[in-house]
Amino acid sequence: MRTALITGSTSGIGLGIAREFAKTKQYNIVLNGLEANGQKIADNLAKEFGIQTMFSPANMLKPEELRSMVDAANTKFGQVDVLINNAGIQFVSPIEDFPDDKWNAIIGINLTSAFYLSKAVWKGMKDRKFGRIINIASAHGLVASEFKSAYVASKHGIVGFTKTLALEGAPFNITVNAICPGYVKTPLVEKQIADQAKAHNLSEADVVSKVMLYKQAVKDFVSLETLGQTALLMASDHASTLTGIAMPVDGGWNAQ
Ligand code: NAD
Repeated sequence: MRTALITGSTSGIGLGIAREFAKTKQYNIVLNGLEANGQKIADNLAKEFGIQTMFSPANMLKPEELRSMVDAANTKFGQVDVLINNAGIQFVSPIEDFPDDKWNAIIGINLTSAFYLSKAVWKGMKDRKFGRIINIASAHGLVASEFKSAYVASKHGIVGFTKTLALEGAPFNITVNAICPGYVKTPLVEKQIADQAKAHNLSEADVVSKVMLYKQAVKDFVSLETLGQTALLMASDHASTLTGIAMPVDGGWNAQ
């Protein structure tokens, strides 16, 4: 059994990816997130798929909690083979009103936590000559949209971080890739629909059709299964030369 540690996996995309990994029955899964029912989510996943899970409420803004989470995973499962840096937040505002604390939180959670966690798992991956790090970036890791300065900066940052670690990991069979999803209907996006409606002065229905899916050629939200299966491919043994990429899974948004 391999062990996958997925941050922000008690909601949305992270939970969707955890479920696709669980279905294979080939992974122990370390779940993480701020949801109060995190332990229950982890227990239910273990029961449903007959695998082992654990839950850590480590806060992405607290480096010592991130290191303790990796230590706890190593103690319970022996190692972390796959790290998926997924936890993330969003805030939408024109630059002149953008709150300083929101900037710092977005950079801390979306970007800097991936640095601390990658560093914490690196030596073990290097020693075992196997490691897979998958960063959930965004279509906004490749292109910008107005009113999302911190988010776009964090996601472009993580794409650069991905490429650098891919080079450093290459001699040790550690691959590092980013997935760049278009819009996925999760709590994060539900909240944005409301925020964007305010920023653009539009109705919520118009935000979905005129702002969000307007940019995607495929007029559907990206599914959790598509993202989970993409991550499973990147995590597999077959993917040893698939490294350093920022793969759009965005319904053709970046093709335009
Ligand atoms: P979500 O709000 O459903 O889930 C986010 C998860 O991150 C939650 O489990 C939450 O508890 C956790 N989290 C937030 N702050 C944390 C902190 N300080 N410490 C620990 N955990 C924390 O959001 P989502 O839509 O599933 O987003 C997941 C990732 O996918 C994010 O990085 C997001 O930027 C990215 N993404 C989302 C979309 C989309 O359309 N939903 C598109 C592209 C990229």
